[in-house]
Amino acid sequence: MKADSQEYQVVVVGAGNTGLGAALAAREEGARVLLLEKAPIEWRGGNTYFTGGGIRFAFQGMEQFIKLVPDLSKSELDSMVVPDYPTSQYYSDLMRVTEGLADPELIQILVNESYPAMLWLQRKGIRFVLQWSRQAFKIGDKYHFWGNLPLEAVGGGKGLVDDLFAIAEKDGVEIRYQTKAVRLLQNQRGGIRGVTVQGPEGFEDIATRSVILASGGFEANSEMRTRYLGPGWELAKVRGTPYNTGDGIRMALEIGAMSYGNWSSCHAVAWDLNAPPYGNLHIGDLYQKHSYPYGLIVNIEGKRFVDEGADLRNYTYARYGREILKQPQRAAFQIFDAKVTHLLRDEYRIPQVTKAEASTIRGLAEELGIAPEAFERTIQEYNAAVQPGEFNPTVLDGKCTKGIDPPKSNWALPMDTPPYYGFAVTCGITFTFGGLRIDKLAHVLDTEERPIPGLYAAGELIGGLFYYNYTGGAGLTAGAVFGKIAGASAAGYAAQKHG
Ligand SMILES: Cc1cc2nc3c(=O)[nH]c(=O)nc-3n(C[C@H](O)[C@H](O)[C@H](O)COP(=O)(O)OP(=O)(O)OC[C@H]3O[C@@H](n4cnc5c(N)ncnc54)[C@H](O)[C@@H]3O)c2cc1C
Repeated sequence: MKADSQEYQVVVVGAGNTGLGAALAAREEGARVLLLEKAPIEWRGGNTYFTGGGIRFAFQGMEQFIKLVPDLSKSELDSMVVPDYPTSQYYSDLMRVTEGLADPELIQILVNESYPAMLWLQRKGIRFVLQWSRQAFKIGDKYHFWGNLPLEAVGGGKGLVDDLFAIAEKDGVEIRYQTKAVRLLQNQRGGIRGVTVQGPEGFEDIATRSVILASGGFEANSEMRTRYLGPGWELAKVRGTPYNTGDGIRMALEIGAMSYGNWSSCHAVAWDLNAPPYGNLHIGDLYQKHSYPYGLIVNIEGKRFVDEGADLRNYTYARYGREILKQPQRAAFQIFDAKVTHLLRDEYRIPQVTKAEASTIRGLAEELGIAPEAFERTIQEYNAAVQPGEFNPTVLDGKCTKGIDPPKSNWALPMDTPPYYGFAVTCGITFTFGGLRIDKLAHVLDTEERPIPGLYAAGELIGGLFYYNYTGGAGLTAGAVFGKIAGASAAGYAAQKHG
């Protein structure tokens, strides 16, 4: 191991949004920081690279909001409606979608620190823009932002990653690619004294006073998926990086860390049936198909199996991938008619999409390989169940069905205007919900709930934030908030004298 004078104070494992933020926060405290990234440079950025860069934060009043997007012109400001998002609403949204199971202390920190984290990122050099096309609809002369996710990082996930790396390099964070952490090293008292890595030159022990684990969940590890999420999960497509194989979780559990959270569940969405097994760096998140609230979803037998309009898409999409995996051949079809195609997101128009178009419902079934009679019956029954009411995609409009199961609770327009379009999807896993237990300083706790000295964790690999479901845009926020806390905590700990 290296001599003490050259020792790193903080080693960060994993260079996504979380690890980069943690490294920057530790540098702010004056620590010598090494950032380890398992992937080669062209795959850097982890799942963060694949995101749309949409990030959920609480704010109160346009003054606070505009601070994050200071370049908006007067005419842009006049043309948009962005509802406030108080911390209390963010908190209750998280509790609502997680069935009240989310760790109250952790999510309170997440929501309270979300706006300060945005300001901090901005101070560091990250810029934000409005999600005009993904999170707003024009009604009358105004764009109405729905679902409390109005901003994204400039350039989406790729832009965010490129900017964070540039800032980290400028701020003096040392970065090693193709170098994975494989084992945590402890001293006699159980505190962190180093980390074993494996890089192009082989194995090496690196001395450090603290380690921050930010290496993502186990979504890209088919064995762990099957073990924890259950049979069939080895067959899910992975939406993002192939490198998040649960290493950080495994290393911490090996030295006695406590497991925490919803190990048998995950974030999974509707993803193109013919997408590759892992994310594609050029396509990014565009294999996703997120406009189903304005249409219907059927399986290959022609039957519906979820309430497409149960809630705004930001609060249902992360759990519907799991429902698709349960269907025959792990396949589903999103069906739209000509009345709503203008509402479909850009991802429906990429050349790599698996879709069919027909002038009749039966013709569409034949094109897509859906059982035709059952499909026609489903559409007839659905159309007969549609209730009158005003359609409005920016709110829960209450325009619903009556007498069918599952119901469609909002945005229920009759399926009656050709041409009809069908998009074939399967389950794409985003990230896993189970992980390590941390305290409010991002310290990793052991099985007796005591902090493991020098060990911190943040991002996808912590448990306790999300159960069964998720609020769109909270993943990047969780990484930014807890990464920043972990960086400051680890640097503070490393600066102390240890006997
Ligand atoms: C297609 C897609 C779209 C998404 N869209 C959004 C969105 O718009 N908004 C949002 O909030 N969230 C979104 N998410 C979720 C979001 O990506 C995650 O919540 C967030 O990026 C996690 O950040 P992270 O830093 O914890 O993990 P990651 O960004 O995945 O980074 C983990 C890094 O650790 C590295 N690593 C793994 N093992 C080791 C090891 N042993 N040693 C060293 N390095 C290691 C990996 O290579 C990777 O680079 C999306 C995810 C996907 C896949």
